[in-house]
Amino acid sequence: MNPAGIPAAAPGGSAEKTRPEIRYIVFDLEWNQSSGGRDGEVPGMPFEIIEIGAVKLDQNLREIGEFTRFVRPAVYQKLHFKVLEIMQVGMEELKTRGEPFPEVCREFLEWCLEKKEGEEIQPVFCTWGSMDLTELQRNMAYHGVENPFPSPLLYYDIQKLYNLLYENNSKNKLPLERAVEETGLQATDPFHRALDDARYTAEVMEHIDFDSVRAYLSLDYYRLPEKRSEEIYLVFPNYSKYVSRCFETREEALGDKTVSDMICWRCNRMLHKKIRWFTVNQRNYYCLAVCPEHGPMRGKIRVRHAPAGGVYIVKTIKAADDAAVEKLLERREEMGERRKRKNRQTHLEEKRKRRRRSGAEEG
Ligand SMILES: [Zn+2]
Repeated sequence: MNPAGIPAAAPGGSAEKTRPEIRYIVFDLEWNQSSGGRDGEVPGMPFEIIEIGAVKLDQNLREIGEFTRFVRPAVYQKLHFKVLEIMQVGMEELKTRGEPFPEVCREFLEWCLEKKEGEEIQPVFCTWGSMDLTELQRNMAYHGVENPFPSPLLYYDIQKLYNLLYENNSKNKLPLERAVEETGLQATDPFHRALDDARYTAEVMEHIDFDSVRAYLSLDYYRLPEKRSEEIYLVFPNYSKYVSRCFETREEALGDKTVSDMICWRCNRMLHKKIRWFTVNQRNYYCLAVCPEHGPMRGKIRVRHAPAGGVYIVKTIKAADDAAVEKLLERREEMGERRKRKNRQTHLEEKRKRRRRSGAEEG
């Protein structure tokens, strides 16, 4: 079982019949923002959802339903020029055809849930990029809609899977248009309307070798662990991911033993560090440890700002081949050089200051 508890697909041609029921909810949101820039931004609501579009797929990625609704704007009464330009929908149309967000959201959530023989089929959300689930929950919180999502909330970021398969795992934000074009799909409807984009995302999903990457679920970071017992530890086919609770400061976070521990993701051994945690830019930290059974492991810590203040840590541990070890050593050398340069500078400055001081005393 992978982290979401979704059983792996059965191999071979008979897979269709034996696959357990899954409902993939491939959705897309369109949102508006303050047309007056930062000054006009409403706290807690940078992006107001104005359209929800989704298609529902079964376990064989066949479309079995669609959902599309406009939301009547309640926060920003003017459309941002970019939104107007790409969506081709006016404020008047949104006001007449849209329904209040809480209503649309409840309808959407009800549509996502299906029951079979009295049992709920848990939906698995899929989006292009990592923003939609977060913004959906932010809008829910603003409007006081109860958040029904499990915690941790795992989903498929199809953009990430696409990059993993075809873009050498690049971190670039590949536009959906490009993926549609590259996959050779026919783009008959315009982009940037929620239902169309959801359907394009679903088509890309059907087109790629989804089975080979289905273990790579993404984690939504809108709701973070509040206490140690809620901290998240996920194991993927070739790495592990740990998400800490929130800490007040970076120092406090980095001083936490669970944060700094290196554990082999394959055998759960506590590992001995060959290179202790170091940083080049104060944002990413690296270290190298060795498992006696599974070889060198590279640790990476990212320090992230929590929406409610403070910081949290995302730590990944991954097997390190020779190239990865080499890169790590280079990085550490770079850090050493920087530190030396800085020390030399401080030393020179102090020397200069001392000289100036003694010069002033003499004169
Ligand atoms: Zn091991």
